[in-house]
Amino acid sequence: VTKASRFPGEFELIARYFAPLASEFPGAYGLLDDAAVITPSAGCDLVVKTDAIIAGVHFLPDDPADLVARKALRVNLSDLAAKGAQPIAYMLDLALPATIEEDWVAEFARGLATDQEEYRVHLIGGDTNSTPGPVTVAVMAFGEIATGRIIRRGGAQAGDRIFVSGTIGDATLGLRVLRGQMPHIDVAAAQFLAGRYRLPLPRATLGPRLVGLATAAIDVSDGLVADLRHICETSHLAAIIEAQRVPLSPAARVALASETDGLAAVLSGGDDYEILFTAPPSAADGLAEVSRLAGIPITAIGHMTTPSPGMPADVQVRDASGNLFALGREGWTHF
Ligand code: ADP
Ligand code: MG
Repeated sequence: VTKASRFPGEFELIARYFAPLASEFPGAYGLLDDAAVITPSAGCDLVVKTDAIIAGVHFLPDDPADLVARKALRVNLSDLAAKGAQPIAYMLDLALPATIEEDWVAEFARGLATDQEEYRVHLIGGDTNSTPGPVTVAVMAFGEIATGRIIRRGGAQAGDRIFVSGTIGDATLGLRVLRGQMPHIDVAAAQFLAGRYRLPLPRATLGPRLVGLATAAIDVSDGLVADLRHICETSHLAAIIEAQRVPLSPAARVALASETDGLAAVLSGGDDYEILFTAPPSAADGLAEVSRLAGIPITAIGHMTTPSPGMPADVQVRDASGNLFALGREGWTHF
């Protein structure tokens, strides 16, 4: 792949738009060397994660460049938060088609600058290429955590409660709004939901505080049930969710009032970027304190249990009367 060449030149582009984002991180060497150096704090592990977003797949080709940049960074920061890690730095791998102009890169860099302030991370390097394909933005994020303390998916115990931060279902309802599938919803609710889809809110102030309290954690990117299933499989346990406890925003409640498959949307919709985690009942006081300190609500939605003989380590969803739901072709329905 040849390097992007239609701009002032690849190196000028890096110097003009990306080097300023690296100026406060000594190991980035001003983006003037071949590689960067990260020295984690003494007694810490480095936690790393990469995720790419592609135009036409993860965002719309005409989405504002600053939002594209922030989304690319934030989906990675969400993974670090779910593991209890404090973000430090990130690298940026850009593939740009010839249709991209310098203004787009400038706006893209402004978006990164905004989120560097918000999340206290620094750009430390990357790669820039031209592509015959769509805009592709790959970020690799680096965080740190006390040695051995990363919150895994597989640590849940039978009897643990299941918790989720914030509210669930907003992003998937927001995507419906953006697709024009919810024309009757009021404007304020529509804007809130669309915003939750466009710009994830990684729970960076919450994740590190869950270390020592949560036994297992994952960020909700594929959907509440799908992501809880990952905890079940790796923890070799089953999960029971009480549907009426799943926390909904006021806007989601408005939206769900007019949707026939509302529960399905909330349980299986993705892109919420909340933290889904398990913790023993004894962690209740600690979690209340952590929620207060982080300024983020935490809601108990169910519990982990030993799978009954012949039953898989899977997720069960119950309604207020204790009846089971199953995911049918039309979404979640009663058995
Ligand atoms: P190489 O020729 O060794 O592949 P490059 O010429 O691609 O290195 O990059 C020069 C410097 O600019 C390196 O420090 C690299 O990390 C940095 N860099 C290149 N592209 C980006 C980018 N999109 N974002 C941040 N840093 C970048
Ligand atoms: Mg080199």
